[in-house]
Amino acid sequence: MAIDCIFCKIISGDIPAKILSETTHSISFLDAFPLAKGHVLVIPKNHRQKIQDMSKEENADLFSLVHTMLSKVDSIAGATLMAVHNGKDAGQEVPHVHVHLVPRSADDSAGAIHSMFDSDLTLSASELNELYDELKI
Ligand code: 5GP
Ligand code: ZN
Repeated sequence: MAIDCIFCKIISGDIPAKILSETTHSISFLDAFPLAKGHVLVIPKNHRQKIQDMSKEENADLFSLVHTMLSKVDSIAGATLMAVHNGKDAGQEVPHVHVHLVPRSADDSAGAIHSMFDSDLTLSASELNELYDELKI
């Protein structure tokens, strides 16, 4: 448990939350400041800042709960944004892994992922090859 972490305090019961489900390593609950009706967060019980900081077992448990909750959340509007801000510079405000499940509809104000970025990035063939070599496993 991280002492100053809001989500650790929800897990310990020090901060109230509308908890929807619990598994061995994860919980889901309603977001207190929802972007849409039915905005749900799914988090690991252990304090981990980034997805890759979780063990494979914690990761599998988290995304299994995401899978379960998606069928519920998706029934609200018929489509769902699933998002993780993996690190502070990616827009992560609470430094404890959380998967957002946000009901989406065609007439909401959010767009496609490219609308988040003011970018006209193009990469040369050699830059693409360098990236490929860097990321390939
Ligand atoms: P982030 O900006 O880190 O991706 O998302 C953090 C999320 O946590 C936000 O959607 C915010 O509304 C939610 N949140 C912040 N504080 C609380 C809280 O005390 N309780 C609950 N249930 N959600 C919170
Ligand atoms: Zn935490």
